Parts: sequence; structure tokens; C-alpha cells
Amino acid sequence: MATNKSHLLEDYLDLSADDLDKRIIIAKETMGRRLLILGHHYQQDDVIKFADFRGDSLKLSQEAAKSDREFIVFCGVHFMAETADIITGEHQKVILPDITAGCSMADMANLYKVENAWKDITHIVGEHNILPVTYINSSADLKAFCGRKGGSVCTSSSAERIIRWALGEHGKIFFFPDEHLGRNSAVKMGIPEEEIIVWRRDEPMGGPMGGPMGGNDKEKIKKARIILWDGFCSVHMLFLPKHVEYFRERYPGINVIVHPECRREVVELSDLCGSTEYIINRIKESPAGTAWAIGTEINLVNRLRKEQPDKTIFFLSPTVCLCSTMYRIDPQHLCWALENLVEGTVVNQIIVPEEEKRWARVALERMLAL
Ligand code: SF4
Repeated sequence: MATNKSHLLEDYLDLSADDLDKRIIIAKETMGRRLLILGHHYQQDDVIKFADFRGDSLKLSQEAAKSDREFIVFCGVHFMAETADIITGEHQKVILPDITAGCSMADMANLYKVENAWKDITHIVGEHNILPVTYINSSADLKAFCGRKGGSVCTSSSAERIIRWALGEHGKIFFFPDEHLGRNSAVKMGIPEEEIIVWRRDEPMGGPMGGPMGGNDKEKIKKARIILWDGFCSVHMLFLPKHVEYFRERYPGINVIVHPECRREVVELSDLCGSTEYIINRIKESPAGTAWAIGTEINLVNRLRKEQPDKTIFFLSPTVCLCSTMYRIDPQHLCWALENLVEGTVVNQIIVPEEEKRWARVALERMLAL
């Protein structure tokens, strides 16, 4: 029976792994069908083992919306929990066990800077000649911005489709926050590099509307078909061309597969490039005895290695490429959030304001309709 009593996080920090596991299981059973735990593919094993669903951010949010469960505990990062709040029902509450679990890439673009850039760009090219597209790895207010301006969200698997649509509609796009996903998708579609420019977010002000020019001049902006925000994923940027070369020399015949958030030079040297779901499916479907070097977050690669023992799987970097913000969701935070729920206290609820939610949903629905 809920008592609305709050548990303090500090009381969980010294619990043993066994105690935490037992208490999480009891809290989960007590909440029963009122609760859904979501685990992103990059989540650590000690947490993902409690997830009802594993997946990428959109798939998990869609599962939450379909489930109709009252409490959605999202073991991911902040923008993922926002996406879940945008598409779930009014009666559902989304919880992020550690409120500081952000995404460094999403944080590289904020509404203030994007709006300033948009003012300068549209002053030069006209608002009817360009559409904004945001990667799903972005804050809710940027998704809402795209919804209001007729643009769309994209995922790593739908980026090409959305870019093709946006170019067909208006001939030019402003893509944020990930430069690399934008470039890799555009180049794969056959768009020449000279039609792609980068908007450097920290350039000083001085554009026609008082904002920055992103390190570009008017002619460059007029000629470009794709303007890319210069954000990046600090995890996927750690993969380098020399890592691909190392595996090719040492293991002839190895397959190299990477995520499109990797830099262009790495993607060019790889055999395959695609979203986390694409990587998982390609490895699972590959014949026994094949060898793979995988360029994406290490928790996912280690899990694939355990689950696919008939294949030889390497992590494509000598350094540990861990999503350190996702890692903040640990068993301690999960147990704390769940036991508070059992007591009737909702901690770390993620609430997207109604107006923002409405427009962000427009941008997400546009993507799903395409
Ligand atoms: S892996 Fe990169 S893009 Fe994904 S949540 Fe972590 S920092 Fe963000």
C-alpha cells in the first residue's frame, strides 16, 4: 500500500549488488502491471537485465505508448525520456532514474542558438526555401521548433528518407545536432561534398540578423543544399581510421560495421554502416564463424559478443567508448526510483510542457508518416 513516503538516494549508495538486485525485483513485482522498465541498447548489463523492453529511443517510446502502463521508467538519457513523454498518454508518467543522465550531443544544440542561426540563414535564403530537420537525439524544444517550421525529426535509420523528403520539398535543409549523421546520410544519397556546409555553433555574432554566420559567408549559405550543425557524439567520435586499418591488417576478411554517428573517414573505410538495430540484426543474421569489428557503444558490443558466441566480435577501438551519461543510470538509482514508486512518490518525472509537446509530436508524426 502506497504511503507517499520518500526514500533518500544516499541510503542506496552503499548497498551490495545482491541487495540491490533483490530489492529491484521486489519493487518491480509489487508495482506489477502499473510499471514498465525500458532499457536502451547502450545501458549496462546490471540495469538492462530488469528491462521489459530493450531497443533504441524511438522503439522504446513507442512500446511505452502501446503499453498503457502508468509508470514508465526509462533507463536511457534525458532526450529519450522526453520523447517517451511526448508520445505517451496523459495518464502515463515517465521517470528518468538519474536526472543528470543527459546526452552530450543533444546538449550541443539549444533553442536559443538554433533560432539565431535560423534567423540568419532564412534572411539569406528565404524561409520558404529551407526546412529544419533534427535528429531524435535532441531536446524536446528543438523537435517542437521543427514541428512549427514544417520540418521533421529523423532517426539514424530514417535520416536518408527524411533528408530526401525535405530536399524535395524545399531544396535545402538545416540539420542538427549531429554533423556526422547528416554528412554520412547525404553523401550516401549522392549529394556532393561541396553542397554540404557546416554551421559552427560557437562562431561570434555578426550575421545579417545579428546572430552568427556559423563561420560561413552569404554565398556559401546560398549555394549549400545541406547546412549541418557541428554537433557530435563523444562516444562515436573516438573511432578512428587507424582502428579500421589495424583490424584489416591483423584479421584479413574481417567485417567492419559502424554507426553513422562515426566520422566520415571511418564510415568510408568500413564495410557497413547503420543504426544500432541495423548493427544488431546484421550480426545476428551473419553466418557462424564470421568475424566482426564493431564501431558503436561498448555495452552493446559486449552484449553482442556474449549473445553470439559462434562469431568473433571485436570492439573497434583500443579505448573504452562508453556512454558515460547513460552509465549514470545504475542499479542504485533504479532501485531508489522504484522503491519510491512503491511508496507512492514519483521521483525525477520528465514533463515536456504542453505546447512544446504538441509541436514536437507534429515533427515526430511527420517522420513516421514518411
Ligand atoms: S552514445 Fe552519444 S549520442 Fe548516444 S546518448 Fe550517449 S552521448 Fe548521446
